[in-house]
Order: sequence, then structure tokens, then C-alpha cells
Amino acid sequence: MSLEGKHVLVTAGPTHEPIDPVRVIANRSSGRQGFAIAAAAAEAGARVTLIAGPVSLQTPTGVERIDVETAQQMADAVAAALPADVAVMVAAVADWRVEPSTTKLKKSEGPPQLKFAPNPDILADLASSPDRPQLVVGFAAETESVVENAIAKQVAKGADWIVANDVSGDVMGGAHNRVHLVTRDGVEHWPEMTKDDVARRLIERVSKELR
Ligand code: C5P
Repeated sequence: MSLEGKHVLVTAGPTHEPIDPVRVIANRSSGRQGFAIAAAAAEAGARVTLIAGPVSLQTPTGVERIDVETAQQMADAVAAALPADVAVMVAAVADWRVEPSTTKLKKSEGPPQLKFAPNPDILADLASSPDRPQLVVGFAAETESVVENAIAKQVAKGADWIVANDVSGDVMGGAHNRVHLVTRDGVEHWPEMTKDDVARRLIERVSKELR
């Protein structure tokens, strides 16, 4: 099998950033694309570590799953899972966290003044770390100038590849995806296909790259 002996690290799903003991800031990521990539990598023979935010999806066969809630926990889990040969960072990580209140915020006290602090950029930190995997792949969800923004992200984050997906339709949570693969050699425009097919094709490209 093509990824035999390789360790593939995948992040997937949203993060939840707590505001108080009962409330979180979340996003609409379903985790489906990341879980499909983890499944495809395991099918290709890799050892797979899947670091998942809060999602209601079954763990793919042969995948080691680590559940986390916040971006900071996801960053810590990624660091703990290294070394890896390949990292595919699919998670929709919250850019900001708030200093959560230890007690439930009361409606009677009026709208809360939330103070935001930046979260670590897991992809950028991994791409510049001494333990950098051989191949670092990021995702870019865009609604406009999809490829241009993905190329800018590839440079800014130090990723080898960016999978740019056009989320102007119902991609978030849906079963289909339309992506463009930005590598260091150029841009491949893939036709619309299921997230499972995107995953299999991406893992084939990964295997080819490592060969
Ligand atoms: O900056 P943006 O969120 O658009 O970048 C998306 C890419 O960066 C995805 O691969 C996502 O998993 C990764 N990312 C990350 N940590 C963050 C923000 C984004 O790993 N804090």
C-alpha cells in the first residue's frame, strides 16, 4: 500500500471557544472533509492520527482519534502527535478565543464585553517548527478570489500545498466539494466531487509526492 510506514496527521472539525461554563463560540464546520481524508490515508496504509474538534462523526476504521475542544488543545495535541511525515490541517480553527468567565454570564447584567485574544495558528506554527513534516497541507475556505487567496495563504503560512475550496455554495456541512490544489508547481482545478473522492484523490497525490 502506498502510504505504508508513513504517519499522517489530520486536524478536522470546528473548535469551540468557551465564553462561560455553558456557552461557546463555534463555527459550521462538520468535520466531514477531514474525516474523509483520515479514512483515505488509513486505507492507503498510513498510521493516522486524527485530531478532531467537536463533531458527531464516527471514527474511521484504523484511525487513532484524539478529541479536543479548543484551538489551544488542538495545537497541543498536534505537537504531542509529532513526528509525522504528512500533516493535513483541515480543521476550521477559531482565530480568536475569549478569556472565559468561570460563572455563567447573566442576561440581567446586559450584553457582555467579550475580550478576544488571538489563537495560535496551528498550520503556520507546524510549517516553521523543527519537527516540520515532509509535506504540510493546509485548507483555505474562500468565497471569492479562491485561488489567489490560497496562493497568498500558502506563502504566508509556509505550507507546501493548499487545498482551496469554494465555500460560496453549501459546502459547509454538505457532501460535495469543489477544490483547487495549489502546489509549488502550479494549480490543479479539480471538478466538483464528493468529499470522499476529494480525500482519495488528495491522498493519491500525497503518495505520489512521497515516492
Ligand atoms: O487562516 P485560515 O483560517 O483561513 O487558514 C486555513 C488553514 O489554516 C487551514 O488549513 C486551517 O486548518 C489552518 N489553521 C490552523 N490554525 C489556525 C487557523 C487556521 O491550523 N489558528
